[in-house]
Amino acid sequence: MRRRPFPSAKPARFFWQGLLILLPALVLAGAGFYSLREEEVLARHEAEEQAKQIATELAQRLIPQALRFEVPGIAEAGRLPATWEAEVLHRLRRSPLVETACLFDDEDALVYPPAAAGMPWPAPLDEAELSPAQQDGWLALETAWQLGEASAERDLATFLALEPPARFAAVARFRTAQALVALGQEPAAIGLLQSLGELPPEVVGESGVPLGRLAAWRLAVLLPENDRLGLLHDLAGRLVLEPSPAADAFLSKIVPLHPALHGWEETREVHESARKFAAATTSVPSGEVMVVEPRTLWPVIQPVVGGRWILGVPLDALAQEVVRLDRSMVRPAAFGVAVTAGTHPLLPLPADSPVLARSVCGAPPMTVEVFLKDPAAFAAQRRARTLRFATLIAMSAGAVVAGFFAAWRAFRRQQQLSEMKSNFVSSVSHELRAPIASVRLMAEELEHGAASSPEKTRQYLGFIGQECRRLSSVIENVLDFSRREQGRERFDFEPTDLAALVEETAALMRAYGSERGVRIEVIGRGQPEPVNADGRALQRLLVNLIDNALKHAPPDSAVRVGWEFAGSMVSLWVEDDGPGIPRQEQTRIFERFYRVGSELRRQTQGVGLGLSIVKHLAEVHGGRVVVRSEPGQGSRFTVELPLTRESMTAPSSLPSPLSS
Ligand code: ADP
Repeated sequence: MRRRPFPSAKPARFFWQGLLILLPALVLAGAGFYSLREEEVLARHEAEEQAKQIATELAQRLIPQALRFEVPGIAEAGRLPATWEAEVLHRLRRSPLVETACLFDDEDALVYPPAAAGMPWPAPLDEAELSPAQQDGWLALETAWQLGEASAERDLATFLALEPPARFAAVARFRTAQALVALGQEPAAIGLLQSLGELPPEVVGESGVPLGRLAAWRLAVLLPENDRLGLLHDLAGRLVLEPSPAADAFLSKIVPLHPALHGWEETREVHESARKFAAATTSVPSGEVMVVEPRTLWPVIQPVVGGRWILGVPLDALAQEVVRLDRSMVRPAAFGVAVTAGTHPLLPLPADSPVLARSVCGAPPMTVEVFLKDPAAFAAQRRARTLRFATLIAMSAGAVVAGFFAAWRAFRRQQQLSEMKSNFVSSVSHELRAPIASVRLMAEELEHGAASSPEKTRQYLGFIGQECRRLSSVIENVLDFSRREQGRERFDFEPTDLAALVEETAALMRAYGSERGVRIEVIGRGQPEPVNADGRALQRLLVNLIDNALKHAPPDSAVRVGWEFAGSMVSLWVEDDGPGIPRQEQTRIFERFYRVGSELRRQTQGVGLGLSIVKHLAEVHGGRVVVRSEPGQGSRFTVELPLTRESMTAPSSLPSPLSS
């Protein structure tokens, strides 16, 4: 059978444990600090990315969407509307963002609103264009018109049957209708005028005014009020869509005829300002605002098949719209948005604000910039966050380092304790071996009759008794300690005469003292009174103190043992003229197994338990032990005990000394 090897006596080391505690913590802390630094860069990058998204969203989606209008194509724009409300510019202007608009074709010719023609130019009829028969017909007609003859209608039919040139035919119809009106033959006149309604605008009368318009106007006046509104709308619409100074004059006559026509006057003005705007778009450099009184306009180009609309958006309305769009977006509070139309700021960029992202949209271009509102506050916020995490990391690392030192201390204490225990084992063995050897030696001598005289025999027996008492003192200490370890201590508290106890103990120790050539003197002060105490325990306390004093006192010196009753306290003290105890050792000597100096150089005997027992017993009695000592000037150990009964606590409530 293989036996397990006995654990080696190699001293335990704390290297790997320490490394395993410290290394991961330090690596983690390092990684934490590194990623904090990285995070700083990442945060900046992230902010820029976020800003870019906001700028793109606003410039590429929201603003173009808001500035996209429902515009008609080229063909639809020129169509005559039924009423002025349905007119193209009126419809476009319903949006608060459209002040005016114009439509150019691909050749940059203005399609809408139509360009205004000049003053009508008189266009006299040239009778030379007529055949002789037609000339006769024409003459007859002219006579009938001038004389107001009822034959005019018949003469017209004759003339038209000769198929004269179109313009002569139209003028003939119109003037005949006028003559018929003068004759009071209105129904006939209406019929004639209606046949002229569809004449193209190029067919003008001798005054140069389009004949179709004149006919429509006459017709409208002749028709009953209820029937003429449609015709008037039609006429007014044509006049607005074929503008000229004559058309304007006409319009101002037509509009008062019915309240529903007022809008056409307004439409004419709207067209007029749209024409100014159109003229401005060709003269103002692209990307600049245009002033079309009373507003400043931003041109927005919207292409259609075969041309493009240019819509004039008032800057103030555009700024309001941009503010609305900006508000509709979800964005971090630290970001601000600046929008510039051409060179004109709609949402201004505050000075010294770092721009994180920029995006440009439309033609002419609008620029959207996203900036940091308060760079200092933003940086402070970031710094505070970093600081919080850095503190957390530092605290965790600190806790690990503190834990490491605590573990290291515990390890060191454990190491010292085991060292002390092994010293204790060797000290106890030594303490036991020496007296046993001398007892055996003297017993053998007595057995072999080596003691020559009864005097010698008594001396030998005295020595044997001494050694046995020493032995039992050592064993008593060890047993005390072991009982304490196991929590088996028992104390019997009863009124005890301390003065007598001190005398008795001193007397007990005197023999040992004289063996070492040291006297024991007892000094008492104050009025002695019974103390509630465990007499045996207090005696063990005194024995230990006197034993130490005797061990360290120089030969021919005195050890003074005393008691003193003062107020509610009684103190027991033991004083010697020994070598004293260095200050730094004075607290440690009360630890169990602790002995001053190295094992090899120490001259006194002992196992390092005496003072720990003294301290324990003093505490059991509700008191304490103090040492006053200077190297070379002796030592004085004082045990202070309270006289009150309550302060003497039951020993079972005390913790085991090894459990601390
Ligand atoms: P030990 O069995 O070694 O005497 P103690 O616990 O009684 O153990 O004492 C602890 C240490 O205190 C001793 O090793 C000794 O060095 C020191 N000591 C105790 N009493 C005295 C004293 N009266 N004078 C000098 N040193 C003392």
